[in-house]
Amino acid sequence: MRDPKFVYTFEEGDSSNRMLLGGKGANLCAMTQIGLNVPPGFIITTAACLAYLAHQRLPDGLMDDIREHVADLERKTGRTFGSATRPLLVSVRSGSAMSMPGMMDTILNLGLNDTTLQGLIAETGNARFAWDAYRRFIQLFGKIAMGVPDEDFDAAMAVVKQKHGAVHDVELDAGALEELARAFLEIYRARTGEPLPADPREQLERSVEAVFRSWNGKRAVDYRRQFKITTAMANGTAVNVCTMVFGNMGSDSATGVGFTRNPGTGENVIYGEYLVNAQGEDVVAGIRTPKPIAAMAQEMPTLYRELVELRDKLESHYREVQDFEFTIERGRLYCLQTRNGKMNARAMVTSSVDMFAGGLITKEKALNRINAILLEQLLVPTLDPNHHERSLAQGLPASPGAASGAIVFDADTAAQRGEAGEKVILVREETKPEDIHGFFAAQAILTSRGGKTSHAAVVARGMGKPCVSGCDAIAIDVHGRTARIGDTTLHEGDVITIDGTTGNVYAGRIPTVEAQFFGELATLLGWADEAARLKVMANADTPRDAARARAYGAVGIGLCRTERMFNDPQRLPIVQQMILAETPEERRAALAKLLPIQRADFKGIFQAMAGLPVTVRLLDPPMHEFLPTVSQLEFEIGHLRNLQRAARSVAELPDTLKLLDPELPRDYVESLGKLQKSLAQYKENKRGDAALERREALLRKVHALAEVNPMLGHRGVRLGLTHPEIYEMQIRAVLEAAAECVKEGIAVHPEIMVPQVCEAEELVRVKAMVDQLRAEIEERYGVRVPCRFGTMVEVVRACMTAARLAEVAEFFSFGTNDLTQATFSFSREDAENKFLPKYVESGILADNPFEMLDVTGVGRLIRLAVDEGRAARPQLVVGICGEHGGQPDAIAFCHDAGLDYVSCSAPRVPIARLAAAQASLRGRT
Ligand code: ADP
Ligand code: MG
Ligand code: MG
Repeated sequence: MRDPKFVYTFEEGDSSNRMLLGGKGANLCAMTQIGLNVPPGFIITTAACLAYLAHQRLPDGLMDDIREHVADLERKTGRTFGSATRPLLVSVRSGSAMSMPGMMDTILNLGLNDTTLQGLIAETGNARFAWDAYRRFIQLFGKIAMGVPDEDFDAAMAVVKQKHGAVHDVELDAGALEELARAFLEIYRARTGEPLPADPREQLERSVEAVFRSWNGKRAVDYRRQFKITTAMANGTAVNVCTMVFGNMGSDSATGVGFTRNPGTGENVIYGEYLVNAQGEDVVAGIRTPKPIAAMAQEMPTLYRELVELRDKLESHYREVQDFEFTIERGRLYCLQTRNGKMNARAMVTSSVDMFAGGLITKEKALNRINAILLEQLLVPTLDPNHHERSLAQGLPASPGAASGAIVFDADTAAQRGEAGEKVILVREETKPEDIHGFFAAQAILTSRGGKTSHAAVVARGMGKPCVSGCDAIAIDVHGRTARIGDTTLHEGDVITIDGTTGNVYAGRIPTVEAQFFGELATLLGWADEAARLKVMANADTPRDAARARAYGAVGIGLCRTERMFNDPQRLPIVQQMILAETPEERRAALAKLLPIQRADFKGIFQAMAGLPVTVRLLDPPMHEFLPTVSQLEFEIGHLRNLQRAARSVAELPDTLKLLDPELPRDYVESLGKLQKSLAQYKENKRGDAALERREALLRKVHALAEVNPMLGHRGVRLGLTHPEIYEMQIRAVLEAAAECVKEGIAVHPEIMVPQVCEAEELVRVKAMVDQLRAEIEERYGVRVPCRFGTMVEVVRACMTAARLAEVAEFFSFGTNDLTQATFSFSREDAENKFLPKYVESGILADNPFEMLDVTGVGRLIRLAVDEGRAARPQLVVGICGEHGGQPDAIAFCHDAGLDYVSCSAPRVPIARLAAAQASLRGRT
């Protein structure tokens, strides 16, 4: 025996060695060794493949080994290569450590030639079947081993079909198939310059070499690049030589594919399809419609029982749902392949819980076998899986879920029509904070610009609404109220459907299926919470979002953004009044109107989160975000001025007309009179003047507030300290709402969080405001108001001076969106719209750091801040909020870095709970 050993029988191969035997081969060994009925065979290893590829020839002695193993097969089957009575036929199948579906080929019926064909006919009494097997072999061998193009064979097939008046292959009789096989042999000879080798050993040698070569074929190389399969994951392909069995030997033969559980629902019943009297490829080719496996219980009851037994054995061995291929030859069931089944999220969750209950797997395995990201599918509506619509365009899948509605082109129209009960989809080039009321009223959001972390995407995800962003195939004409996609023009009010899970946009309405938090999911996430060390909180800005986050299992609000409350259409005018105020008194008057509103907001959230912490972030964005844009104001001012001019001209009209003809005004007396009267009224009540003045004042303020780089400008704590009355109002609203709750017996845990801090002294000053107001409010309400004080950490200097911040702050919450911007000096929107995609595509950066937390750079800052912060204050509570908080890799990092919690949007809470468990389980093994 050679060393290293290049050939293993299915009985002797080590089924745990997928690198050496390939996935298919390792599983054939496993199945054989646990007593399943696998046709006898052997495996030529990936090591032999690599040796072949390195030296461009088969390793010395390999063919001798193979010949010995063929002899062994002959003994086991009682058949012989080249026999005219009981010929041995085999399949030659490729298979590497990683599954690469359809990338490499299988040759079936190897061993056929003019002699063995007669044996097959004699043995089966079925000439048609034998000739059909032969012509398939000639084509597969010609194509795979010798590179004869399929088109040549297809052309010959077309000729024979036409001659015999056949539409489908199945209509060809034995004679026609013999004719075809002869034509195929001729094609082979013409293309290769030699006859097809009759010796099965030579056929086998050439096939093995061809399979080895296919590893470096263009298709396979491209596939590995596309799916990032490295040599550490799969290196070379093995060759599986397996005795042929036939499912087309009569009504006691069949072939099929099965799942050990339903891959769509996880239901614990065997699932799949089969065809009586057919070959493997017939099931796939769709020439005949296969039957559901359940039908076998009636049609072939004994075999059905055997199949169920097979399924039980597979599952109890693999302890994982299996996807398998089987063939029944004359009443005997064979298993030809098995692998782990690919299932949707629901089926994964259900089967995890069921397999634990059935004692097949541990809780840890139940948690670990699910890709956490999959859970996102479970909480959003999806398109009816049976729809057949073609999409009009595709953008980025920015927020999952599907929805239909009438197109509207601006937030006001969305709000009007939406609040009137109509289902609308807000379609814009991009969205801004002032569009927020449109988001509330819309079913979904579609933008033609922006990436997956654009405003539209982030806000939609936070609200759990579907969003497709960056759909640049759509040209939007806001003034014309139309959108063009290719040669389709959509008008306002036309119904479209968008699928934020795939990024597809469809014309018309497609039914959707609602999601729900089903029992198995709740069970699984309960286990996750037991296993996890990290707590999962939610980002939520309204009582409704808070309640939903709680229902999804969030144990608090990690980020409540107060500015989202300001953008409500009823409140925005008051907010603007506050911004436009010329004196602190005027500003206080506006703030006095906002106070009760904010207090009610906070109270609602505290009630929804009774007993759990709620972290309120004080106002963060620059003020100009609450004002209209310059171009909007200029547009409106222009129109109002035109109106004034028109009024003046109408007043002068009679005199002007007299210039033409003194008699003329009389003809128009009646209509002119009416017009003049209403215009006089308009001038009198000065509505036009007031509207104009208001906009001019706004425009002046917008100019005054304009900043070169507002995101690095007057915002966050900087705004709070230069206009202390704003933060004062917000802190008061939080503490008064808390005091009211305490009085009503509701357990509250408010936390006040200061954004954009770069210097400890900023915190000291805000803390002084909190302390003073708290004392005053506790006194007035006569209750103790619990409140923690902390900071968002999102400025590089904050990380570098964490120890000093921790002297004042009781908690840190890393705002990784801004911290990433600050660390890279990338402005997010500019980066994503301009160079970042190129950077990622060309490999300068491995990932978009706004999607995947940059552990190397940003992560290092986080660790530094955590360590120094904790050194200064051992009880410091540390968490992360922002988009990364719901991203499994970032969650694993947070676990390792010793954070206490992650906070993410409500729909991501289940993902985060599972990812937190997986992070802590990974640490344990
Ligand atoms: P793939 O990886 O594309 O599934 P396979 O090697 O599994 O390729 O083979 C392709 C088809 O041929 C499958 O339907 C399989 O069941 C069938 N097949 C492979 N080997 C045999 C065999 N020895 N006897 C009968 N059918 C076979
Ligand atoms: Mg297969
Ligand atoms: Mg921030």
